[in-house]
Amino acid sequence: MFTLNEKVKNLKPYDPISGNYHIRLDANESFITLPQEIKQEISDRVLCNHFNRYPDPCAEECCASFAKYFGVPASCVMAGNGSDEVISVIMNAFLQKGDTVVTLARDFSMYAFYASLVECRSVVVENNPDYTIPVDNVIETVKREKARMVVFSNPCNPTSLVLPREEVRRLVQSVDALVVLDEAYMDFSDQSLLSEFSKYDNLIILKTCSKAIGMAGIRLGFAVTNETLTKVLLAVKSPYNLNSMTQAVGTVVFDHPEYIRSCVRRILESRDELYEHFCRISKEFPGAFVPQKPEANFVYVLCKDAEGIFNHLKSKGIIVRFMGDHLRISAGRNYENEVVSEEIEAYLKGATQ
Ligand SMILES: *Cc1c(COP(=O)(O)O)cnc(C)c1O
Repeated sequence: MFTLNEKVKNLKPYDPISGNYHIRLDANESFITLPQEIKQEISDRVLCNHFNRYPDPCAEECCASFAKYFGVPASCVMAGNGSDEVISVIMNAFLQKGDTVVTLARDFSMYAFYASLVECRSVVVENNPDYTIPVDNVIETVKREKARMVVFSNPCNPTSLVLPREEVRRLVQSVDALVVLDEAYMDFSDQSLLSEFSKYDNLIILKTCSKAIGMAGIRLGFAVTNETLTKVLLAVKSPYNLNSMTQAVGTVVFDHPEYIRSCVRRILESRDELYEHFCRISKEFPGAFVPQKPEANFVYVLCKDAEGIFNHLKSKGIIVRFMGDHLRISAGRNYENEVVSEEIEAYLKGATQ
């Protein structure tokens, strides 16, 4: 009889919230759709693909286009099928069975998942009471546990806080472990370490097209690291991990820096607007709804009754991310921000009457 092994026997397929919601603010996607001119350029480009041939194994043109936009050398870039795949490749490459990975309690859940698939142990460090990252504690934990890797997002999903560059630097310089710095949301903040990645032998920076760039559908993410580690990643990934259509779309999009910058500006305006709505609600219902000042494209809110608010929003066709005593709500179009705020207010009014 075939029996399932320990590491997979209790796994369930990833289940993003399914169902029909007219407002989706649960996955930190961009609310901006591509303009017609860029769609046309993509379409022309894709039609030139040789569909009978395997794609470029290292997605060189796509990586060059990404590298130019972010001002890094193309020889230090590895592309993957979303940063999710990149994380998995990094763990396959740099961890061995039984190694220890340090993660933060409030962070992207996929880190510990991929670590478990390579039979590694995750040691979780609690965030400070104000949700910031306790850098000294992280450094001590890495040393004490002889961890081989520490991985975290900056700005952080879900807290939407950013760790100052100086603190990230201190962490990278203080440990022998590999530091995987997920800058998925750094387009919305200003503490990137991308311009200095090559100074370190133990730093990998992750970027994704799924958030600021508004291309979650094409599945495209990148690792930026020194040439030694890049070579390893290119050797470990599966040969044709990026299909030719994604490569073509990525190449075109990064060729439009002004467009990307305008998207970031629009999303930041929306994010600030959503946060202002939330601050107003917070004043009206002290202690019941407490938003964190955001540094990414979503707001993290401590709620007295997160589940009640979540269920109310759901019943109105609005989906946000429920996280125990918190909600994580992505910035949307103006009217979406207004509607979600009105419904939260309506629920809190009803609940306090
Ligand atoms: C959304 C997100 C990603 C992006 O993952 P993709 O696989 O590229 O869509 C990566 N890291 C964090 C922290 C995220 O929130």
